Amino acid sequence: PNSSIFRTLAKHDPQNLAIVHSQSGRSFTYGSLIHDVAAAKDDLWERNGQKSLKGERVAFLAENGYDYVVTFLSILAHDAIALPLSHGFPSSEIRYILENSEAKLLISTSKFEDKARDVLKEGLSYKPQLELLTKIETGATSAENVTFKDKELERGGFMLYTSGTTSRPKGVVLSTSTITAQANSLIEAWQYTQSDHLLHVLPLHHIHGTINALFTPLIAGATIEFAFPFNAEATWKRLAAPFAVEIGQTESNGHTKLKPISFFTVVPTIYSRLLNSFSALDEGTQQAARGAISPKNLRLNISGSAALPTPIKKAWSDLSGGNVLLERYGMTEVGMALSCGLDFADRVDGSVGWPLPSVEVRLFEAETGQVIKPGEEKDSEGRLREGEIQLRGPTVFSEYWRNPKATAAEFVAADDSGQKWFKTGDVAARIEVPGAGQSRQAWAQGPLYFIKGRMSVDIIKTGGEKVSALEIEREMLSLPEVSEAAVVGLESDQWGQKVAAVVVLTTEGKTAGKGGKPWGTMDMRRALKDRLINYKIPQELKVVESIPRNAMGKINKKALVKDLF
Ligand code: ATP
Ligand code: MG
Repeated sequence: PNSSIFRTLAKHDPQNLAIVHSQSGRSFTYGSLIHDVAAAKDDLWERNGQKSLKGERVAFLAENGYDYVVTFLSILAHDAIALPLSHGFPSSEIRYILENSEAKLLISTSKFEDKARDVLKEGLSYKPQLELLTKIETGATSAENVTFKDKELERGGFMLYTSGTTSRPKGVVLSTSTITAQANSLIEAWQYTQSDHLLHVLPLHHIHGTINALFTPLIAGATIEFAFPFNAEATWKRLAAPFAVEIGQTESNGHTKLKPISFFTVVPTIYSRLLNSFSALDEGTQQAARGAISPKNLRLNISGSAALPTPIKKAWSDLSGGNVLLERYGMTEVGMALSCGLDFADRVDGSVGWPLPSVEVRLFEAETGQVIKPGEEKDSEGRLREGEIQLRGPTVFSEYWRNPKATAAEFVAADDSGQKWFKTGDVAARIEVPGAGQSRQAWAQGPLYFIKGRMSVDIIKTGGEKVSALEIEREMLSLPEVSEAAVVGLESDQWGQKVAAVVVLTTEGKTAGKGGKPWGTMDMRRALKDRLINYKIPQELKVVESIPRNAMGKINKKALVKDLF
């Protein structure tokens, strides 16, 4: 299975578009991609003094687009470990990654030369050799006579760092066989095909942007159109373009006729920004944009990386004429693990669906030390049981980069069967939902998984009760006064922990308090009274202008508590 990435790429229709640059409209076929990867591979060999790069780490800085993809794949073709860097990272962060990974080379496109030089300026304990890329595109249109001897691929892959939401980012190596297993699982579940045209607006140094939106569509032979960095207005215009009434708009980029987008996968905050900016569009664009995201045209709209608030899901469905967002759950270490199904009935609010093909999932209940078996989702008193999500299978990584301590801590010791389970640190429950889980997709059946949050920050223990921050956030977000919410646990002598909330108010919330004042703690408690049992209602409220989030829409709750309380 290690050898399949390049052989699969070479099998795609060489005329089919692989990469499109949204802004310029420039496009590149699979034929030219294969050809240029082979050329870039040879170039890398020369640059490394004609020496093997097998197993070496090769870091790179490039703008999202063709050069990025060619460079990425050419490193893989060397059986080396590609290390995609974000130019948005501060230099100190890149230095940490280069030193931690002991990268042999740092490749940069000319655009980021200054950044690369700045990174290397300081004394690094492990200094990579800097290589500047000048020309990648050869102008080739086919890949005749190009062969990859990828039978030997066994040490290569890529390395991503976790988002650092709960601690210093950890290096995760995904081997080529893991990448292939993750991609094939998603191709089966989401039925990616070579006719799909995906709009890619995400950073490429996270699992969402690399596996779900780059490697999976590449392995499926689909088209990836890069429009990064995300801009709400530009995204709407792009979505609308093929449906715009005036033909002129359709041809405006002059290079390639813009195709309708069939596949879109982003984080909840991006859907929220799109919804907020819709009303500012002119009427024609609005009309065309609605058509573009209707279920008929946008085959699949996916949300993940953080919990999807139900109001966003509902607003998107209303705007699009019934297109239901599909939520899935995953992480750097394993790719995607759980996903809702293709049938709308299988996209239940608040749920992340079922274990994806080839992913084995179990819920481990810490209190009892038991795995929650099928049919035992409730305890003897009828209460829903919760457990840590643990995973195994070919999509799961094998170790943190040179961090045996973290690796040992996050895998369950092998059982009789000799298989280890990876501990995700996330908690979930399984619930049978009438009408869902009966679809044509074999893997999407039975009770659904609902995420309760991270054990370290979202599972709050107050007065002996266990409370899910995500569940409270969901209730708060359904109030008209609240536009964003983060629920945290604060140290408390009396309660062990007490529940507190940080919110951004809507215009309505800003005058919802007594005498037209902004909403306060008491107003919040009153509003939540009918929705939550008393101990789940936050005791404290902090109103802020915005809640800090990283590029993937994640909130660092430990930092939030430190800064605000
Ligand atoms: P670190 O491990 O460094 O603290 P991180 O866990 O945020 O950072 P990622 O691997 O990018 O780094 O994110 C994975 C996490 O994102 C999951 O463990 C889970 O907590 C969260 N997540 C992903 N998808 C969802 C979802 N649909 N709903 C809720 N949480 C999600
Ligand atoms: Mg994590």
